[in-house]
Amino acid sequence: MPLEQALERLLAMADQAPVQHTERLSLAQADGRVLAVDLVSTLDLPPWSNSAMDGYALRLADWHGEPLPVSQRIQAGQAPGPLAAGTCARIFTGAPVPAGADCVEMQENADVLDDGRVRFTEPLSLNQNIRPQGQETRIGELVLPAGTRLGPIELGLAASLGHAELDVVRKVRVAVLSTGDELIDPGQPLGPGQIYNSNRRLLVSWLQRLGCEVIDAGILPDDLEQTRQRLTALGDAELILSTGGVSVGEADFLGIALREEGELALWKLAIKPGKPLTFGHFRGVPVIGLPGNPASTLVTFALLARPYLLRRMGVADVAPLAFDVPAGFVWSKAGNRREYLRGRLDNGRAVIYPNQSSGVLRSAAWAEGLVEVLEGRTLVEGDRVRFIPLSEVLC
Ligand code: AMP
Ligand code: MG
Repeated sequence: MPLEQALERLLAMADQAPVQHTERLSLAQADGRVLAVDLVSTLDLPPWSNSAMDGYALRLADWHGEPLPVSQRIQAGQAPGPLAAGTCARIFTGAPVPAGADCVEMQENADVLDDGRVRFTEPLSLNQNIRPQGQETRIGELVLPAGTRLGPIELGLAASLGHAELDVVRKVRVAVLSTGDELIDPGQPLGPGQIYNSNRRLLVSWLQRLGCEVIDAGILPDDLEQTRQRLTALGDAELILSTGGVSVGEADFLGIALREEGELALWKLAIKPGKPLTFGHFRGVPVIGLPGNPASTLVTFALLARPYLLRRMGVADVAPLAFDVPAGFVWSKAGNRREYLRGRLDNGRAVIYPNQSSGVLRSAAWAEGLVEVLEGRTLVEGDRVRFIPLSEVLC
């Protein structure tokens, strides 16, 4: 199955199961969350015209080359009276422009005479150095649509409009399951045949960054009865995300349990790493089974599970920013699956980690992004490849 088709199906499922509840949080708590309702401005921003410079405010029509007396001094935070005709006002950055003034000249272009009057040394123009009322936003304007992910910039913008709290989408509850008899958690001695569970930490940390409520459901042995029991115990999750146990040739306990108690689709994705992916329901709870090799887990989570989860939280545009760069490597053997190589940018060219095995997570720690090589393609240096920065998908 092509990646686009799998993504389309997952997003269609997500659209049918949006998170319904919202909560009102302080700006401090809303970081990383999804805005639940349109943020409409209840202010003009700036609320009044103000000076962009330290200098002098005047009415342009009063300036004929004769020095002007200074009739008032206006600092940021003050509310000035109207400008007296034939005078100018000392004004500072951010201070309201007094009624009647239509020009601010910076102090560097003003000579203060001994008698205190001010002469301007450069030509003046209407509205110069004035930040007009409402230049950023007007009352009633849509500033951030519902479904916007809130980060420092959006929170800063909400603060500039006077909001102390925002309505956000409640966190999605995601249960993380690691399947495999060989897995043990770090901190314990490694027995024969065992490996440490890396996917659990990878996914739990990643999900927390995405603004999910994580149920860490630990390690699940390769055993049908235990699989049934564990899935049953996760009935209040809104998504069960498991890794491992979906490779071809292995007894697929997750698949059997899903078939018995719900429904199952097993997709052979035309991507590498990350070929097998399970999507189904267990007693009504959506289940995504990612392949177990850590680099496969990473790629399928980044390209499929992440957009699915964001869409359930109401985010419309879930595609990560990506761009084309010249390849700084040779790709001589065309594959029948689309490759997502772990690579980085070297002087603007994509270079790849030498070992692209799906079991090697270190490739991704070295990398800055995923380098997409389309199916059937070979590459010589300088050919264009798509680059998806990891920073785009890790949040
Ligand atoms: P599986 O899909 O269960 O056949 O797993 C494929 C490969 O990924 C095997 O080498 C597993 O040992 C490895 N693997 C599965 N789950 C994990 C995990 N949670 N952490 C690290 N490696 C894993
Ligand atoms: Mg396994």
